[in-house]
Amino acid sequence: MTGWFITMDGPDGSGKSTQIQLLQQALQNQGYEVIVTREPGGTAIGEQIRSIILDVNNIEMHGMTEAILYAAARAQHVKELIEPALREGKVVLCDRFLDASIAYQGVARGLGVDTIEGINAYATGGLEPDITFFIDINPMVGLQRKKDQEELDRLEKETLDFHQKVYEGYIALWEKYPSRIQRVFGEHSIEEIHNQIIKIVEEKIKN
Ligand code: ADP
Repeated sequence: MTGWFITMDGPDGSGKSTQIQLLQQALQNQGYEVIVTREPGGTAIGEQIRSIILDVNNIEMHGMTEAILYAAARAQHVKELIEPALREGKVVLCDRFLDASIAYQGVARGLGVDTIEGINAYATGGLEPDITFFIDINPMVGLQRKKDQEELDRLEKETLDFHQKVYEGYIALWEKYPSRIQRVFGEHSIEEIHNQIIKIVEEKIKN
């Protein structure tokens, strides 16, 4: 792989898509070819799977079904979009990746980190981000931002306890993978967070 694979993760409403847009602009201004994508989704098939996962009517969905659907969307995403872009030397900015499955399904749904890693070993074929930004925010603050912005989806409508566990899952991941996962604080200003992110990306790309 010759490109750069950068993922943005953290609670809903932490500012992932805001920061991805700013990072895209900054990198394009420096001459990089940048692809912006998201999970679940990123491909036509992945977006169809996304609508099943996030549909508020799918209340009976089992946690394992959810985990496998995320992995199925990810398999398509990696094969159809991410790996080809990286082979062409592009920068791929992805809103959520495997860490989200570990935090949401592995920890918050209680399926276990090993189970989620196992399923996803097939989906990713071992592909890992070069850098992951964990936007650290109190999950209640993030959810309130989402509520102000749009209708909540099936996962966003989960209980406060669920969102707290997701948050704890992210903290555990950050502690486990300190060289890949960079933590930034989501309650700082949009500009401050962006400056921190671009500095880390530039250091990594230039070395
Ligand atoms: P996510 O993609 O993580 O769900 P968004 O980027 O869509 O989050 O941001 C959710 C909302 O919070 C948007 O209305 C956005 O403008 C706002 N927002 C994003 N970052 C910040 C920030 N650092 N401070 C205050 N509000 C923010």
